[in-house]
Amino acid sequence: MSDTPLAIEIKDLIRQEGPISVARYMALALGHPRHGYYMTRDPLGLSGDFTTSPEISQMFGEIIGLWATHRWMILGSPARVSVVELGPGRGTLMADALRAIGKVMPAFAQALEVHLVETSPVLRQAQAKSLSRFKPVWHDDTASLPDQPLIVIANEFFDALPVHQLVYQGGSWHERLVGLRDGELAFGLAPEPSPATLAPRGEALDGTILEYHEAGSLVMEELSARIARFGGAALIIDYGHIELGVGDTLQAMAGHAFVDPLAQPGEADLTTHVCFETLARLAMNRHLAVDILTTQAQFLNELGIRPMAANLKHRATPEQADAIDRALARLTDDAPRAMGSLFKVLAVSAPGS
Ligand code: SAH
Repeated sequence: MSDTPLAIEIKDLIRQEGPISVARYMALALGHPRHGYYMTRDPLGLSGDFTTSPEISQMFGEIIGLWATHRWMILGSPARVSVVELGPGRGTLMADALRAIGKVMPAFAQALEVHLVETSPVLRQAQAKSLSRFKPVWHDDTASLPDQPLIVIANEFFDALPVHQLVYQGGSWHERLVGLRDGELAFGLAPEPSPATLAPRGEALDGTILEYHEAGSLVMEELSARIARFGGAALIIDYGHIELGVGDTLQAMAGHAFVDPLAQPGEADLTTHVCFETLARLAMNRHLAVDILTTQAQFLNELGIRPMAANLKHRATPEQADAIDRALARLTDDAPRAMGSLFKVLAVSAPGS
């Protein structure tokens, strides 16, 4: 396979500056201004590289709309509140959530402002289309969100943020790097041990890999501080592990299949598993309550996805009813075929709100 335009740039960079961290490689592959994966395309859906829960069924966003409504009521039904989505993709989840909110709680629909944190110009355009009625405001990151109570949603956002990988070798932790071997991109190790600030304490077996979620931790810290200050809650849904674990979870997908993460930078999606324990701890450092830490299946079932599906099926043709059943199974059944147990849900909130 010939090199992607971004592979050519990354190889040049490595020739000039030496090997780069896995985090820098991920940041370039996903966010390079001209060739980054998210900067140049809409990757979602059948014709894209992967499908997400809101693209599988409207029920997903509607359930999240119900969750948000409940949170707004607990907040004391404020007259102004931000409903924030991180990495909103095509805007499908938000559109479905807002439709549900409009039905069950018009006063909340009146009070809310829609804020979208999105770096991709292509996906911002898609969001502008699907959400034009709601006059969304876009942000490059969470720092520019308005100073008011906020209800935050992030589905498959944290998995797209760059991670550092550390490998235990010969008595110390070394950063895993992307360099060149025979002219091709290849993984290697930093010769020097990582500084103590980055490396975990304790010993491990040679070759053990740990992921350090620097970018995701910064976002979670900023969000938690904001929620602690202004009141509100955040709902984070992603694939990952509940407890801190070891192992390399970097994966690349193109055309709905796994590919080599170094093979086609800029043209395959790159993700890692989210560590929910780390996110929950950061929220607790700001004295937020951890409300839910559960699987997607449990979360959707507890908020009533089954009666919702039954209700939709009442008004459906037999073909539509089959499609609703298939979507329900994909969202709530177990791995490996479905997302119910692989995906986890973390909800955090300011005490008393
Ligand atoms: N939440 C959507 C899309 C998931 S794909 C869904 O469930 O369908 C990941 C999303 O995060 C995309 O919208 C992508 O452009 C956005 N994204 C990736 N990295 C980002 C970053 N650093 N800052 C803001 N948005 C980012």
